[in-house]
Amino acid sequence: MPENEPILLTPGPLTTEPATRAAMLRDWGSWDAAFNRLTQSVCADLLAIAHGEDEFVCIPMQGSGTFSVEAALGTLVPRDGCVLVPVNGAYCTRIVRILERLGIAHVTLPLADDEPVTAAAIEAAFKEHAHITHVAQVHLETSAGLLNPLEAIAEVCARHDKRLIVDAMSSFGALPIDLRKGGIDALVSASGKCLEGVPGMGFVIARRALLETCEGRSPSLALDLHDQWVYMKKTSQWRFTPPTHVVAALREALDRFLKEGGRPARGARYAHNCATLVEGMAALGFVPFLPADVQAPVIVTFHAPNDPHWDFAAFYAAVREAGFILYPGKLTRLETFRVGCIGAIDEHDMRRAVAAIDTATKQLGIRVRAPELA
Ligand SMILES: *Cc1c(COP(=O)(O)O)cnc(C)c1O
Repeated sequence: MPENEPILLTPGPLTTEPATRAAMLRDWGSWDAAFNRLTQSVCADLLAIAHGEDEFVCIPMQGSGTFSVEAALGTLVPRDGCVLVPVNGAYCTRIVRILERLGIAHVTLPLADDEPVTAAAIEAAFKEHAHITHVAQVHLETSAGLLNPLEAIAEVCARHDKRLIVDAMSSFGALPIDLRKGGIDALVSASGKCLEGVPGMGFVIARRALLETCEGRSPSLALDLHDQWVYMKKTSQWRFTPPTHVVAALREALDRFLKEGGRPARGARYAHNCATLVEGMAALGFVPFLPADVQAPVIVTFHAPNDPHWDFAAFYAAVREAGFILYPGKLTRLETFRVGCIGAIDEHDMRRAVAAIDTATKQLGIRVRAPELA
């Protein structure tokens, strides 16, 4: 097995364990009972992570995470529904674009990139737009790394009897989500984020009673979650060609997840990675974009150094040369770059990454000054 070189400090695809990659070294038949058991065990574990065993079902879906978001919106929202979308980043905007394509009415709640939505703002939107039936909420906005207060959002949705669909793509498996508390109707995530599988499949954890009402609603055949669910219940097979190797890798990744101590241990390792990164970067003069209280331990956005020698492409290449892959910023109004804290990496990797960033800035003659000091 090749070493983990370079280390991906990107929140999907991310650095995986050698054993997870090795799980892909055999072929599986899609009709084979052993493969179908693999799928079933993966779905059972995913349900358990969110404590959804009683009232929810897990439906896997081929494709990247967006395919599952689109499948969830297209299947779970009736044609005459109206979806409230709080928008504080690019993944929220993507949900709005999906709704536009699907021709589903929606109301956006515009927020700044560093401003979590509040339950009060959602409640005000419910009062102003009485025809809202659903809320599509990104839990952790990966654009900046911003955490939205899911429990408070679920509580206000439950109180007003609105259906809540959560894009938990980059939080599932690391941050606490407990479906037993109520208020959430569907959760969407994917193989290649905090579960540390390889990319290639998503999944929707949906309230069974809700999904049962959704037959024939999806305008898309391939992304029809109800059809995928019914077919899988009947045959224990995926409807169309399954991403067999991705499922096998996710099975291995879930075994490692459970061995590590499950969601609390995974979240704790990421929090430690994040703290190590922020502290190390602060010592070099780098300032995070987000205030600490809304920063999720998954990806950190840093202000680019306020120096004429700054050039992200050159910086990226120099850090890449040292064995680490960074992410460009995803904010339109500010020059930033991002460093992920998730994947099969620990605090030692984060320290080495900070050292590589230090070396790269010196090589490139960049003086790291915070933007305020300009
Ligand atoms: C990664 C991610 C997605 C899905 O993106 P894909 O490129 O389709 O995998 C959706 N929402 C959030 C918040 C994400 O982090």
